[in-house]
Order: sequence, then structure tokens, then C-alpha cells
Amino acid sequence: MSSEQRGLNDSLSVPSNKALSSNEPLTRLAGAFKSASGALGEVLMPRTCPCCAVPVAYGAGSPLCEQCLPQLRSALVRVERVQVLQPLDGAVVPEVRAASRYEGMMPRALLALKNAGRTDLLPLLGEGLARSVYELLRAHRVELQSVPGSSISSAGTSAAPVEVLLVPAPSSAQSVRRRGYAPANLLVQEAARQLNQRLPASVQVRAVDVIGYAPRRWRGSGASFSSHTGSSLLGVSLLGASEAKNEQKSLGAVGRAERMHGALRVMEPALCAGRLSVICDDVVTTGATASEMVRVLQDAGSRVLGVCAVAAVPKKLLT
Ligand SMILES: [Zn+2]
Repeated sequence: MSSEQRGLNDSLSVPSNKALSSNEPLTRLAGAFKSASGALGEVLMPRTCPCCAVPVAYGAGSPLCEQCLPQLRSALVRVERVQVLQPLDGAVVPEVRAASRYEGMMPRALLALKNAGRTDLLPLLGEGLARSVYELLRAHRVELQSVPGSSISSAGTSAAPVEVLLVPAPSSAQSVRRRGYAPANLLVQEAARQLNQRLPASVQVRAVDVIGYAPRRWRGSGASFSSHTGSSLLGVSLLGASEAKNEQKSLGAVGRAERMHGALRVMEPALCAGRLSVICDDVVTTGATASEMVRVLQDAGSRVLGVCAVAAVPKKLLT
């Protein structure tokens, strides 16, 4: 078992098989503990650092231990531009920014949020996303100033602030049911909350969860979509969103981009038309999901400023 897995399993720690076989009541007790969720689980099981599994004292004020907290903080402060997107058909590639590289303790922290219910990491990881968005907005300040009727462009009058939409990557309905929450959506809400406290009054951000997986009958609109799945019938994909995601893990960058083509849709196009938006995700790997999000948002009439993530798997780092 890797230290990563150990960290994730620790919050649900169950005695070894040997101990179980010699102690039946303990089995039932451990089962009860394991099924305990939320506050009850936290009370019954010792709180551990999601990055190294060391117990963290009650009232420590941080989800991480004293060693990991400064390391994770410093891993999140340097926002980098990353080249990860694999465009199809010569599509315009927006810039991607990430607060951290997906290495070191970052995978452990993000997987703990996604798969082990560690929503107590949201303030820290949300701050990373907020930094990433802040740097993107700063780089596009001239564009923000050119938005008609904005208080920036009308020199300090009482015009409305420019509102930039922060759009989280979608979660499948199945994964939301399994986890009980959508990690990317929670991260974006946290980042928006932090950003609106720090941005000048002339710019505000708003988290809008408007992109979802397209119904299966819609898919297959991508030209080479069906040729890669091997499981489509007359251009209609038989795969659900989670199956698509699992299959995506085994595909290369180009395969993933083609696989995602036509897989997403904007659920409220009227909300996005004519608006500035930033695509947000926890991790950007090949950029296939982000690239498809850009495409559907642009189709809905939104001006996509870029893609921001807590962490990116580095391919080529630009500056
Ligand atoms: Zn630790």
C-alpha cells in the first residue's frame, strides 16, 4: 500500500484481517464506524492529516499536520501558465493557469477532497484556485476594462462591476450520488467567496454550475467520437458519464479530446451569452474536459478568458 492510499484509508481505518478473525464484535463495530459518515464519523475516528496520515489534534485549526501545512501552502502560491490543451480542428486554445503542479503532496490532498470526504481542505485548496483565477484576471485586465458599462471603463462612476462567471467542470450524477457532493463545484464556490473579498469593487466573480454531461442520445456528434469508443451503435453512445470517465483514463491525450467531443452541454445558455467566463477544475491533465468546456461555452456565446485549476499535470510550462 502506498503512503497515498494509507493516508486515504486512515480515516476509515479498520483493524487488520488477523484482528478481525479473532474478534467478531470488533468486526461489527468497525463496520459501524466505517458506515458512520459526516460528523459522527469525525467524532468516532481520529482526525488524520490527509497528506501523511499522522493524527491531527482536536482543535489544531488545520486539517493538515504541522509539517504538511506549510508545505501545501507553499506548493500553492506560485501560479504557472501550463500548456496542456489538445485542440481539435484548430480550435482556439485558451490559456491554462494552475496554482501548483500535480506532484508531491498535491495528489494526496486533492484525492482526499474528492474521494475521502475531506471537505475541510476546501479553504486551502480553494485559495489555490482563487490565486490561479486572480492571476488570469490580472493578465486580462485590459479586456475587463473594455467591457461596456463597467465601472472600470467609466472612470469611477457608479456603473455595475464587471461580473466574471466561474464555471466548474461537471461531475457525473453517479459520482455526486456516490460522494454526496461535487468537489469541483465546492472548490469554485470557495474560490469565488475568497476572490470577492479581495478583488476591487469593479470586478466580481460568480460561481455558476452550468455545464453538465449531455444526454447519451446527444453524443456522437463529434466526427470521430464513435470510432474510438468501439461501443456505439449508429452514432449513439451506449456509455454513461462515469463509464466515459473511466474509459477516458485509459486513452491518450488525442483520444481523450475526441472522446469528450459532444459529451458536455451548457444547461443555461442564456446565463452565459455575452458574458465573460473562466473554466475551473481541480486538476487539469490533458485538458480534454477543459477544451470541451471552452467549446460549449463559446457556442453559448460566452467569452472564455481561460482555464484555471488548483493543480496541473505539467507537459510544457510557459514562463
Ligand atoms: Zn501531514
